[in-house]
Amino acid sequence: MNSAVRLDYDVVIVGGGLVGMSLALALAPYPLKIALLESRVDKARVFCERSTGFLKPLVLSESSRRFFESVGVWKELKPYAVPIESIHVSEEGHWGVARFKAEHQKLPAFGYVIESALLEQKLKERLEAEAKSITFFCPIENLECEPQDNILLRITHAGIVKELRARCVVGADGTYSTVRKLMNIPVIRQDFPEAALVGILTVGKPKPYTAFERFLKRGVLAVLPFSDNRFAFVYTRPKEEITHWMSVSDVVFLEHIQVQLGYRLGRIQAVQRSATYPLAHVLAEKWRVSNAVLLGNAAHTLHPIGAQGFNLALRDLALLAEYLVRDYQKEGTLTLQWMSDYVSERQNAQKQVVRWIDFLTRSFSVRLPGSGSLRSLALFGIDSFLFLKAPLLRFASGLSDIRPRLLRGLSS
Ligand SMILES: Cc1cc2nc3c(=O)[nH]c(=O)nc-3n(C[C@H](O)[C@H](O)[C@H](O)COP(=O)(O)OP(=O)(O)OC[C@H]3O[C@@H](n4cnc5c(N)ncnc54)[C@H](O)[C@@H]3O)c2cc1C
Repeated sequence: MNSAVRLDYDVVIVGGGLVGMSLALALAPYPLKIALLESRVDKARVFCERSTGFLKPLVLSESSRRFFESVGVWKELKPYAVPIESIHVSEEGHWGVARFKAEHQKLPAFGYVIESALLEQKLKERLEAEAKSITFFCPIENLECEPQDNILLRITHAGIVKELRARCVVGADGTYSTVRKLMNIPVIRQDFPEAALVGILTVGKPKPYTAFERFLKRGVLAVLPFSDNRFAFVYTRPKEEITHWMSVSDVVFLEHIQVQLGYRLGRIQAVQRSATYPLAHVLAEKWRVSNAVLLGNAAHTLHPIGAQGFNLALRDLALLAEYLVRDYQKEGTLTLQWMSDYVSERQNAQKQVVRWIDFLTRSFSVRLPGSGSLRSLALFGIDSFLFLKAPLLRFASGLSDIRPRLLRGLSS
């Protein structure tokens, strides 16, 4: 006899990371029955600024800010989210510089820098306080799944085997998604020869609200305003060099990073290296099987160069939430007849973002004679002509892709 506990849900979200929690928040005000499954016990950790709690900086685009405003969490994020009001783009060894100012685009900011663990913590607090209708299973083990009309998930939670029947399953379980594997969805994987090292610089001459993107001979250095005289950095280099730069002393690394950045922010006074990340594109070949759909890193893990991964995922999930809510309100159940339209619209959006990232990674890695001067001219051209900047910036800030209501400051 099967002694498993049986539960029914409209939507089961697998993965309580940034994307899974954001979707849960977007659906929380509606009468859908939702479960959120997370495998890691330490998800309950509390961010503490004085500890080494810094994991990685995230730049939230204007479209993402609007999303968090719509789901009512922006007021809690705002004190920690540092606006980027200008961006300075340059290339090592070449004279061209492009400067972008948010006010010229009639935007309050290009984006907002926030620490990823802090954002996760704030989303979790908000979910616990507001979303009484959501059942949170954490930690879960032994996820199994049978794709049927109503998908059957089997999990072990608190030592008990539970069977969850779901009208719709959302796989928001990251780059190595179990949902994706259970659905036999293959991935297209492109490993980059570089890795990323992230951390914090304390500088002598801070330029408030200014971000720097510096294309180097062997990588990219992004320096982002974080707090007062502290700037977060993301430094990409060939993998073996990143291993080396993680192993040297703070003093040696500080001198190295000073040379890469120059004296744009004065003398660097201290440096904290927090973590390294491999760089890859991992793209699911399909996003949907039966009533299960992939979201976030499970659908598309992207190179961080354009700060697009999470921002793109929020634009995906804003549309997904809108479709789910409308379907439920109209039909009193989830028919999911719109799922193919949703997937094809969002896969097209993903293709554009991947093309943009390819453009950034390729155009600054070509080392032909004269190519540096051409890039300098391009940067100079972009710097001088607002009409060239506007479409680039609208794209980077996610504002060319805001059909869903949640991205226009409205509820879904
Ligand atoms: C260095 C770096 C900088 C970046 N900067 C930016 C940026 O500036 N802007 C931007 O938009 N994006 C950025 N990104 C991308 C961004 O970090 C990701 O897009 C985002 O974290 C994806 O979140 P996720 O919830 O999809 O995946 P994850 O954060 O991986 O979360 C997945 C969750 O699922 C859980 N899980 C896994 N397996 C299971 C299972 N079987 N059952 C239950 N739960 C499971 C995991 O424990 C985890 O909590 C950056 C990435 C890197 C590496």
